[in-house]
Amino acid sequence: MTHINSDYSKLTESYLFYETKLRAERFEAAHPERRLLRLGIGDVTLPLAPVVIEALHKAVDEQARQESFHGYMPELGMGFMKQAAAANYARRGVTVDPEEVFVCYGIGDDLGAIGGLFARENRVAVVEPAYPAYADTNIMSGRTIVPIPGTEENGFLPLPSPELEAELVYLCSPNNPTGAAYSKAQLQRWVDWANEQQAVIIFDAAYEAFITDPDVPHSIYELPGARECAIEMFSLSKSAGFTGTRLGYTVVPKALIREGRSLQQMWVRNRSTCTNGVSYLLQRAGEAALTEEGLRQSRANLGVYQKNAELLTAALDRCGVRYFGGQNAPYLWLRCPEGMDSWAFFDDLMERAGVVGTPGVGFGACGEGWFRFSCFSTPAVTAEAAERLIAYFA
Ligand code: PLP
Repeated sequence: MTHINSDYSKLTESYLFYETKLRAERFEAAHPERRLLRLGIGDVTLPLAPVVIEALHKAVDEQARQESFHGYMPELGMGFMKQAAAANYARRGVTVDPEEVFVCYGIGDDLGAIGGLFARENRVAVVEPAYPAYADTNIMSGRTIVPIPGTEENGFLPLPSPELEAELVYLCSPNNPTGAAYSKAQLQRWVDWANEQQAVIIFDAAYEAFITDPDVPHSIYELPGARECAIEMFSLSKSAGFTGTRLGYTVVPKALIREGRSLQQMWVRNRSTCTNGVSYLLQRAGEAALTEEGLRQSRANLGVYQKNAELLTAALDRCGVRYFGGQNAPYLWLRCPEGMDSWAFFDDLMERAGVVGTPGVGFGACGEGWFRFSCFSTPAVTAEAAERLIAYFA
C-alpha cells in the first residue's frame, strides 16, 4: 500500500477566503436589495501596462513564424529576462549577477519549491501575521514552525530575540496583511542575526513597488551581509498587475553557502530537474514590464491603489480607528472595535455597512482582533466604502 505524506494532517483547514466568500454570498442571497462593497481579496483590478500588451502580441506573432519560433525555454530563465531583473536591482544600486536570478511563474510556485534546499530538521521562524504559504509549505515537509508574533506593541515588526532558535526565517516587507515595513536598521538586525546563526532568510518582496518611505529597503540586498544569508523572491503580480498573467523571479546569491555548499548551485540543480522553464511569451511580458517605460506605466496603476489607500486611511483617521499600513503597502490593518473578534467584526461590518474585508485571524493567531482591507478595489467602490465606514464608526 502507498504511504501518504502524514504531515498534511498537521495543516489547519485553510478556509479564510472560501469562508468570507460564502458568508458574503449568503448575505447577498438573503438581502438582494443590498450591495456589498468588497475590500477583501488582495487581487489587482487594473489592466496590464500597454508596453506589456505590446510585448505579448509581438511574442505571440514570433511563435507563429518558423524563423522566430521558440520551443522549450532554459529552465533557469531566458538571458534577456535575467538581465532585466539584474537591471531592476541596479536601479537601486544593488548588484545582482544574472546567474543568481531564477525566473519563475511567481512567488507562490517558488515558495512551494524552495524548501527542497533544506533538511527536514530545520526549525522555521515565521513572522506573523503572515501569508499562510510560509508555514503551510514547511508543515507539508514535516518542519516545525516557530511563530514570531507581530503585535501592536512591536508595530507588527518583530525583531530577532537572543532566545530565538531557528535555522530558517520568512520575512515579508512590506507585509501582507499588516502593511508594516521594516526600516533599513530593523532589517539589518535580521541580517546580522542570520549571519551569526548561519541561518537563512527567505525574503518576500512582493509589495516592494508600494514603498514610499526612503528609509524602507526595496530589496534585502541593500543591506550589508544579506548576500551571505538571504534568498529574495520578487513578483510582478502586484507591482505590474500580473496576478493572472504570472511572472516573478527568485534570487539566490552565489555568496550564500551553508555546510560548504553553494545554495545557488543547488537551486540550479533543483530547477533544472523540477521545471521546464517559463513561457517565452510571459518572459517577454516581464522584460517589458521592467523597462523604464513599463515601470512608469505600472506606476500609474499603483498610484490609483495608493489613492484608494489614502481614502481609506482618511476615513479611519476621522473615526479614530487604530490601524497600520496603507503607506508603503496596499493593505490596511485595523483593530476590530472593542469586544469583537475578527469574525464577529466581519459579520457586523457586512451586515451594518455592507463592506467586506478579511478577518485578521486567518493570517495567524496573533491576527485575532484585527482586520485587513485591501486597496486594490476600484476608486468608486473604495470611495463609497470609505463613506460607509465613516457612518459605521460614527
Ligand atoms: N507573497 C505574498 C506576501 C503575497 O501576498 C502573495 C499574493 O498575494 C504572494 C506571495 C504570491 O505571489 P505570486 O502571485 O507571485 O505567486
